[in-house]
Amino acid sequence: MGKNPLGKNLLTERLLRSWVRCPRKAWLDLHGDSKQRLWTAHRALQLDHQQNSFTAFIKVKPGKGITACEQGSSAVIGIRLKGISHNGFKLESHPSLLQKVPGESCWGNFGYRPVIARQGKRLTKEHKLALALEGLLLGHVQGSLVREGLAVSKTKNGVELETISFTKKLEKQLKESLCKLTSDLIKETPPPITADRRKCSICSWRGICNSEASLNGHLSEVSGIGARRSELLHDLGIRNISELAAYKPTDLARKLESFGEQHVEIAQKIIFQAKVQARNLPERFDKNKVFPEINGQEKLLIYDIESDPDYGENFLHGFMYLERSSSGAWDLDSAKYQPLLVLEECKESNSWSILKSHLSSYPNIKILHYGETEPLTVIRLAKKADITDLELKNLKNCFIDIHDRLRKHWRLPLNNYSLKSVAGWIGFNWSQNGSEGAKALLCWRQWKREKLFNYKTSSKPLEWIQKYNKEDCLATWAVTEWLLRQDE
Ligand code: SF4
Repeated sequence: MGKNPLGKNLLTERLLRSWVRCPRKAWLDLHGDSKQRLWTAHRALQLDHQQNSFTAFIKVKPGKGITACEQGSSAVIGIRLKGISHNGFKLESHPSLLQKVPGESCWGNFGYRPVIARQGKRLTKEHKLALALEGLLLGHVQGSLVREGLAVSKTKNGVELETISFTKKLEKQLKESLCKLTSDLIKETPPPITADRRKCSICSWRGICNSEASLNGHLSEVSGIGARRSELLHDLGIRNISELAAYKPTDLARKLESFGEQHVEIAQKIIFQAKVQARNLPERFDKNKVFPEINGQEKLLIYDIESDPDYGENFLHGFMYLERSSSGAWDLDSAKYQPLLVLEECKESNSWSILKSHLSSYPNIKILHYGETEPLTVIRLAKKADITDLELKNLKNCFIDIHDRLRKHWRLPLNNYSLKSVAGWIGFNWSQNGSEGAKALLCWRQWKREKLFNYKTSSKPLEWIQKYNKEDCLATWAVTEWLLRQDE
């Protein structure tokens, strides 16, 4: 990079939003090798949600560009706003939507305010700063101060609206953020990998960051170490996995005592996990059988749900029926996959009827699942349907959480215990590109929208989701089988 590393580059709203998520991401967005970027469904989901929210909100066809503003269109898209930051850098923003509001501007007795689509339940710092930047630049273009922005979000209860006032405090935050963003962008090397690695799962730079974190034994690679704990360990002089693995649990517990009880409890856990990761070997710490109740079974169900968290919808309940062959071995080749699709119109009571009728074909069968979602969903639906206490108790007894059993018996050399990580470590492969829950959700939303607008719906998105769900069931079985083999 030259003397003025930003050179002809602008400080854009995109960079600001990336920086709020992770300063390293903003740096990589500007200077990184774009060939290293990985596809993520997150951005596509955001755009999809934005389109849904805006369509439900504006109801009219929006005008385009500055001409639409001059003509006083009630909604405007496709506008580019430019300006100069207080520290002399060029700024640019492309607001997704402007809404006409009463007031004064160079175009007449009206003005505009920026509108943003809010994904998730709460407005984040990223939303607020992006809106504030759009407001600042819009003010220069329209010749009058923009005092507020609007966040819209389509939820299952309708369109939610939230006004954000551009207060002095927010203005100050924007200034400070732009300063910090600039100073991070002009660095020769990227800022450090974020300690809160949950953010990485939806980031397009996760490939290179994960490799670097793993190579350097980054503390955030240890399952159970988040941002705060990682900081505490650094303060104690523990900088990587090997150093943590070499620590005595009692010494670490003593040092962490002053930071709170929960850190003491976790000291042993994270040291043992670090040891397993440093040695790259799994460790069994509970010698009791993982699945004492499976031995006597002749048949099993494997269950996996696909859901849309924003709309509180569980749109696919996938079951795989598995039985033993005459030799007594579990016969995966003859396993039957049964997807139950729950359409939006279908009320929760109907969901329960569908599930109840399906489960009644397999009385007292054990149901394997990975994580808490499946039993929580079924039990919630069953309770609403007013089933008896005995029926509820029997239903609860059917579920076997593979994730829970794994965590109670084994430590694996992995930085997390998600189904994708564990099954992948065992050697299971998902066959479709971009196999992740977020893509299944994207396919579902696309299919639903086509159906809603009576477009000719393609069966491809549904086929993709069902194959993905079936492979999640198979992956759950792969983990179960691995655990069963260790029991033998
Ligand atoms: S993968 Fe993680 S550390 Fe890397 S840029 Fe993205 S959020 Fe930051």
